[in-house]
This record gives sequence, C-alpha cells and structure tokens, in this order.
Amino acid sequence: MPIASINPATGETLKTFEPLTRAQIDEKLQRASDTFRVYRESSFAERAAMMLRAAEILEADKHELARIMTLEMGKPIKGGVGEAEKCAWVCRYYAETAQQHLADQLVETDAGKSYVKFQPLGPVLAVMPWNFPFWQVFRFAAPALMAGNVGLLKHASNVPQCALAIEDIFRRAGFPEGAFQTLLVGSDVVETILKDRHVAAATLTGSEPAGRSVASIAGGQVKKTVLELGGSDPFIVMPSANFEEAVTMAVKARTINNGQSCIAAKRFIVSKEIYGEFEERFVAEMKALTVGDPLNEDTAIGPLATEQILKDVDEQVKTSVAAGAILLTGGKKLERTGNFYQPTVLANIPKDSPAYSEEIFGPVALLFSVDNIDEAIELANATTFGLGAAAWTNDEIERNRFIDNLEAGCVFINGMVASDPRLPFGGIKNSGYGRELGEFGIREFVNIKTIWIK
Ligand code: NAP
Repeated sequence: MPIASINPATGETLKTFEPLTRAQIDEKLQRASDTFRVYRESSFAERAAMMLRAAEILEADKHELARIMTLEMGKPIKGGVGEAEKCAWVCRYYAETAQQHLADQLVETDAGKSYVKFQPLGPVLAVMPWNFPFWQVFRFAAPALMAGNVGLLKHASNVPQCALAIEDIFRRAGFPEGAFQTLLVGSDVVETILKDRHVAAATLTGSEPAGRSVASIAGGQVKKTVLELGGSDPFIVMPSANFEEAVTMAVKARTINNGQSCIAAKRFIVSKEIYGEFEERFVAEMKALTVGDPLNEDTAIGPLATEQILKDVDEQVKTSVAAGAILLTGGKKLERTGNFYQPTVLANIPKDSPAYSEEIFGPVALLFSVDNIDEAIELANATTFGLGAAAWTNDEIERNRFIDNLEAGCVFINGMVASDPRLPFGGIKNSGYGRELGEFGIREFVNIKTIWIK
C-alpha cells in the first residue's frame, strides 16, 4: 500500500510514496552499519560542526518546514515555526554539551586507575509519531548522532514528506550518507528491521500498543529500547494559585498542537473552593478559540491529523457522555471538510467511561472537583499513565507534597509541562521508560564501559 501524505484540513492527497522493498531496506541497513564503523571514529568537534550546520538549516528554512508540517498533519503554522526553532535549539545544545556529557568519569577504587567510558552502540532505529513530526525526531537524532551512533527513522506513515525533509537536513549539514536515513515503510516491517543484525537498539515514541509491540520484539533480541508513550497528565489547581494565569495556561496546555500532545494537560483537577469559577472561565475560553485553517496565523486549533483520530475522539466523547459525563461545550465534528473537532469540555466523568481511563488525543478537556489535596493527588495518580503533571499552588507545603507524591516523569509547579533540551524527559508506568534530552538522554544509546587498570 502506498504511503500517502493527506492534508487533514482538506482531505486532499498531496503525494504518495511507494514503501521501500525488502532489498532497499537491506541496502539501507547495510549502509548504516558500514557508515557507523567509520563515523564512530569522528571527533566531537567534527560532529558538532555538522550538528550546528543542521541548526542553521532549520532556522533558515523554518517557514518552509512549518508549511510541510501543517500541510501533512494540520499543526497551526505558528507552532510549526516554533517547532523548527526548537529542533535547532536541541542541535545546538548537544553540539555544545555532548563531549562534556560523555567525558570519561574517573572512579576511585583499589585499581591503579578505573574509569567509565561512553561509546556508541551502532545503528539505532527510531519509530516516531506524527504529532511533533520534527521535534520528536530531532530530540532523538541530535544526541544519538553526537554520541557517534547512526540513525534509522521509521516515521509515522502520514508524514512522509516531513521524514524526507529531515533526512535532507542531515545530508545538507554534511553528515555522511548513512548517518541518518529515512526508511519509508509501514509499521508491519518494523519487526523485520528490529530483528536485523545491523540494528543495535530502538526508540519508540507513540502509543502504548505500539510501544508494547516494539519492546517485546526488541526484548526477544536483547536489544535496548527507550519508550516514550502516551499520557493523561493531570493539571491541578489549588485555591492559593494565581487563578488568572492558571486558567489561561490550562486552556493552552490542553489545546496546544490541536490537543494532540503526549504531555498535554488532559485532566483538570480543581479544588472545590474555586471549581465553579474555574469551570465557567475555562469553558468560556475553550468556546472562544478559533478553529479553522491551520495555515492562517490566527488559528488556535486546526484539524486532527487523520480521519481515524477524528473518529476515535468523537467515539470516546460520545461513549463517555452516554455513560453519564456532562458535556459543557463542544462534542461534535465541525460541519465542514477536514478533520475538525470542536473544543470540548466534559465534567462529572464516570469511572467506567473512556474519558476517565483512556488518553484522548484531541481538544477534549476533563474537569474534576476535589475536596482537598489528598483527593487531588489520589485522583491525579489514578491512571495507568505517568508522563507529566502540573500543579498550581502558592503554598509551600502543598508544593512539596505534589513534588514528592505525583507519579510522573516530571512535575511542573505553576507552569505548563513542556520539554526542554536541558532537562530529562520521559515517563513511568505505561508512559514508558528511559529518558530523552539532557545528560540522561545522551547516555541511553551508549555502552557505559567500565575500565579497570591494575
Ligand atoms: P502510534 O500509532 O503508536 O504510531 C507511532 C509510530 O509507531 C508510527 O511510526 C507508527 O507507524 C508506529 N507503529 C504503530 N503501531 C506499531 C506497531 N505495532 N509496531 C511497530 N510500529 C508501530 O502513535 P501516534 O498515533 O502516531 O502518536 C500518538 C501517540 O504518541 C499518543 O499516545 C501520544 O501520547 C504518544 N506520544 C508520546 C510522546 C512522548 O514523548 N511520551 C510524544 C508524542 C506522542 P505507522 O504510522 O506506520 O502506523
């Protein structure tokens, strides 16, 4: 089946690509392996020069790259420009810090000298999602390549043009042919690629079922994996919080990227003392958002990336309402061409409804009222996910309780959960394992080698 690039705002098929044949895949895997043998010997300075050039290309081409993202997956164009800039940031960050993060570490023992050395593993397969089609890839590729690995990208099937544009950036930046290759293939051949002797490790960002599948295949091959999966992040608001700021950020945190972000705030857990006012303001602000053409600079929410996602979101909302959830606004597809869904708010969500237990990947917010901080923490943790968590409070005791007790890979106090090249990013529970970004991220795909000299 061809890999198609379809504009989610119009339904128009922009381009189609034939997936790679088995022989073409083998050729690329062999090239990755051959390139790795040479590339691993390059110095940090040589890799950094290429990575900085990649950053320059991303910055110079940001408007064009944003257009590709918007046309393929519906991201509001301003978000695409910001995404290209953020990719440049992560390239610069690792160009500047990789050597320091991977420097030998002396350890005092009874040896004459003992130390830890970090060495690359080889070709790493990256199975990536469409939602941040550049950022997800660069946050894997920048550290992996700076560590001396080579990358093989199996991007989501709905963003082939983004996948090819990324490969082109690394080529233009001067990386050797084979240091970063895009494999235009469907998910059905991931197993074969993972089992190939040339592939050393894998990282997957995507849904929980995809993560389970890749991890179990890789486990069977004893190959290292990092998994960045879904989330159902809580956003807790306590009475001492700055209310105005909390409401504004709550709306942004739920609707950024058309509501299709793993770290979007999905469950709003509000102290009963301020719940009524919060609900009123939040619903009013959600209703006021402009939904429309993502190429328009003023659009807040564009279409969902695929027709299937639109159907899934609609189904999750309808089933939850049928189970007793109260629909405060939205709840319907827009009456126009394209995968547009109304910003939606649900309250009174029953425990046995999809909205309570599943990740909803669209502009759908869930509101909960709680009596106290114990209830807030209990509800926040009552999910199989554990990606991010935001808590709004100006009370120091409450703040420390949230930091200590929220089950998540990160806790943001009085802010919206976001990724930053300098800070580790990743989840616990069914949100995955391993970390990207910061010094922890670059140490995922390396051999942490102990050296002991008498
Ligand atoms: P997805 O359907 O799991 O797809 C992600 C990638 O996995 C795609 O390249 C897809 O290829 C591939 N894939 C799907 N099923 C597979 C399987 N059984 N074996 C091997 N590969 C498989 O997820 P998505 O809809 O693109 O992305 C949304 C999900 O990603 C959400 O759950 C979101 O929370 C999560 N996410 C997590 C993070 C994070 O950092 N934790 C960041 C962004 C998104 P095809 O497209 O060819 O099917």
